[in-house]
Amino acid sequence: MTATHDPAPAAGSAGAGSAIAEDAWDRAVAAIANAEEVALACHVSPDGDALGSMLALGLALRAAGRRVVASFGDRRFAVPRLLRFLPGQHLLVEPADYPAAPQLMITFDVSTTERLGLLADSARAAAELVVLDHHASNTGATGFGTLRLVDPSAAATTVLTEQLIARLGLPVDRDIAACLYTGLVTDTGSFRYSSTTPAVHAMAGRLIATGLRTDEIARELWERSPFGYLKVLAAALDRVVLDQDAAEGHGLVWTYVTRADRAAAGLPYEEVEGVIDVVRRADEADVAVVLKEDDDGAWQVSARSKGAIDVGRACTALGGGGHARAAGFISHASPEDIVEKLRPVLKPM
Ligand code: MN
Repeated sequence: MTATHDPAPAAGSAGAGSAIAEDAWDRAVAAIANAEEVALACHVSPDGDALGSMLALGLALRAAGRRVVASFGDRRFAVPRLLRFLPGQHLLVEPADYPAAPQLMITFDVSTTERLGLLADSARAAAELVVLDHHASNTGATGFGTLRLVDPSAAATTVLTEQLIARLGLPVDRDIAACLYTGLVTDTGSFRYSSTTPAVHAMAGRLIATGLRTDEIARELWERSPFGYLKVLAAALDRVVLDQDAAEGHGLVWTYVTRADRAAAGLPYEEVEGVIDVVRRADEADVAVVLKEDDDGAWQVSARSKGAIDVGRACTALGGGGHARAAGFISHASPEDIVEKLRPVLKPM
């Protein structure tokens, strides 16, 4: 059988026809060329795409002899355990040591200034603020930054970062490739999501050609956890609820993980990110929600959709953001009250 041709534009190619104008790329390249120091920032509680993008550009600039500083604005500043294998962490500084008013600041995978945490003031004071992002919720109306390189069709921010590195004329070595690949493979759900276009696989191919060990990256990201994770997962699954009438009959499956669950198992907050991937397996629900109580007692709400319900719009309505199929927000209400607030905003795509 011959392969069928997909007539849809290659989302994520970020090449000709992307949402980012040529002159915006040119201005970004010029801004970077002219800056004495480049200050990089990604969102709080960084994921593979945010940290991978930031460290990839940081490594590329550092290799070119440029002055680079990189950070993210968490009050408890630490690279999540899952991402400690990423190269380039020598570029990181604590938020307190970040420039207060950078000449040039570049944000990665940051959809709102709130997501900058402690670095939001630096962003406001930056002479030039370049925003590299692919969140659909990062729209022009609420958009921040003096130069916006935002393409919601890009599968990951690392897709845009690879573009920027290429436009700067800088080479991608194996360490930079590891950072870019980590963002690509995490944001596409190991190349399972619909964002996985031919262009995504072509990019993966370019990165693997540098000698990248994708098996080692996969093991770091998905095949290990502390033992305590099993106990916390068991507690979360023990209280999972299926609400078939919710989401206009498309169904909602939800549960929560308390601070006490984690304390009993000695598990840090960052280790419970994967609970949603188990909960969302339930066939009976289009929407899966996991509420995770952080160390400050706030509930970090993660929502996933199988395609019928737009959880991005729902979470944005509740003060958060994200994508149509993966989004989140923060609340200080009780888990039951949070779900009551969420139910009426779960609407079809
Ligand atoms: Mn991303």
